[in-house]
Amino acid sequence: MNHPCLSCGACCAHFRVAFHWSETESFLGGSVPAELTEKLDPHRVAMRGTQARQPRCVALRGRVGEVVHCDIYARRPSPCAALAPAWEHGEPSPQCDRARAAHGLPPLTPDTWIDPDGETPLPRSA
Ligand code: SF4
Ligand code: SF4
Repeated sequence: MNHPCLSCGACCAHFRVAFHWSETESFLGGSVPAELTEKLDPHRVAMRGTQARQPRCVALRGRVGEVVHCDIYARRPSPCAALAPAWEHGEPSPQCDRARAAHGLPPLTPDTWIDPDGETPLPRSA
């Protein structure tokens, strides 16, 4: 069973992804590629593409709602790591629901995570 995010990507094409600039500075422990970001204000940068009227992160590959992956998954910024898919760990996720709805996708449910073969969904980075 593939991770549901690998056939979604809605949150990467719905929200502005903003975070402290230090996440792009390796000498401060950051790992987000700076060239994929743009300055937002004196303290924050945003992933390129996510400030557009129809946002789409520059690091997103594939087609939303079909097959997607994040080109910088292991180096993604903190807001991406913090956005939990709904019910993956037994909790709702209004952000996930909102992003999916904006792309015409139904919300995830607790049943999304029950694989008929009893397998645990593969990690998102797979
Ligand atoms: S967190 Fe939710 S909206 Fe984002 S990719 Fe996963 S399923 Fe889609
Ligand atoms: S960095 Fe990756 S996970 Fe974050 S919005 Fe962009 S494509 Fe999505």
